[in-house]
Amino acid sequence: MITKPKGTYDLLGVDAKISTYISHEIEDMMANYNYELIRTPIFEATELFHRSVGENTDIVTKETYDFKDRGDRSITLRPEGTAGVVRSLIENKLYGNRNDTIKLYYNGTMYRYERPQSGRNREFTQFGIEAFNSSDPMIDAEVISIGYYLLNNLGIEATVHINSLGDAESRKKYTEALVAYLRPHIKELCSDCQKRIDTNPLRILDCKVDKDNEILKNTPKISNYLSDESKDRFKKLKSYLDILEVNYEINDKIVRGLDYYDENVWEYIADSDQVTLGGGGRYNHLVENLGGPSIPAVGFAMGIERLILNIKENIDLSNLEQMVDVYIMSVNEEEKMHALEIAQYLRLNNISCEINSNNLSLKSQFKVADNLKAKFLLILNTDDLNKGLINVKDNATKEEMKVDEAEIVDWIIGNI
Ligand code: AMP
Repeated sequence: MITKPKGTYDLLGVDAKISTYISHEIEDMMANYNYELIRTPIFEATELFHRSVGENTDIVTKETYDFKDRGDRSITLRPEGTAGVVRSLIENKLYGNRNDTIKLYYNGTMYRYERPQSGRNREFTQFGIEAFNSSDPMIDAEVISIGYYLLNNLGIEATVHINSLGDAESRKKYTEALVAYLRPHIKELCSDCQKRIDTNPLRILDCKVDKDNEILKNTPKISNYLSDESKDRFKKLKSYLDILEVNYEINDKIVRGLDYYDENVWEYIADSDQVTLGGGGRYNHLVENLGGPSIPAVGFAMGIERLILNIKENIDLSNLEQMVDVYIMSVNEEEKMHALEIAQYLRLNNISCEINSNNLSLKSQFKVADNLKAKFLLILNTDDLNKGLINVKDNATKEEMKVDEAEIVDWIIGNI
């Protein structure tokens, strides 16, 4: 038997239903907030991720799927969505002469060669949004609130942990102070942190291995190094989040794993188990660094698999078990033809319905209808059909009644 590659999964059954439910919620919200769908390639030139995510990040050094294609080009399966969106924005000149905010969203598979565990796969799905062309913290607040209210609408309780990484100048000063503080203690930290002190010191702050180490608890605070402008941006963000009624807390350990972030950054953390469901921030220099004009931007990404896990553990799934509204039962050719015709009318009128397409016995059809949690059974029989009638059974109350065949669609719509 050929099995799926390590770190991948087949989306099946109730997980598939939750995933569809999440996608619908996303699409509804995106329409309300005026974000447009963008779909970029699953693979891009390797260089794109080196120049955006960062040469020294864990993602680029350890986790990308890189290969040479048959034309000897260096290709990478996308480990995240922002780089491709920015590449597309520049290549298609989506910014044109616009002075409004360009608002885009994506929902697609990403690839990282990580150690698989619950909520961590090698192929996974991220929903993300990106807003270009505005540096106003009000748009940061809008973007943060979209993720927060998506979780809210899905019944997931979460807190947004926010921080400011400041502008390049503030970050440089802070990084120097952090390195000066950590250097004398570096041997007491994990081997990854010993490398990070020279390559990516800020990442030491969110090290999972050393998170309870006293050394990391007493690091200098970035808030003491922010410029007045960065402080003001962070302050405004907080007041806008208050207006939007987003549940947030300040967490100066949030630094994010990708190099392109600056100023306001955040993560969505589940209240139940403290798992990170998503994260984002400002990236005011990425468009320029990738060869485009100087356009500020802000965005986040959320992992769909982690949302599915959270929903499954915390929410009553009984309403997701219902598969169809109506099951139509038939046992002979004449009944089958009526069943087919009625099913077509119901389906075209937005009523979900199933018919007996396996020539099952009546007993088996009752079982199938129960499994599908059908609300109504239409139990066709030749005598009733000759009189233009349909025998309808309410599967919850077990009550049976006869309804005119000509009225059946309206009757179901009225009673569903
Ligand atoms: P990141 O792009 O690393 O900031 O990740 C944003 C979100 O994507 C995370 O909070 C997770 O929900 C999800 N995510 C990242 N990596 C994985 C993975 N390997 N498997 C499943 N979900 C992931």
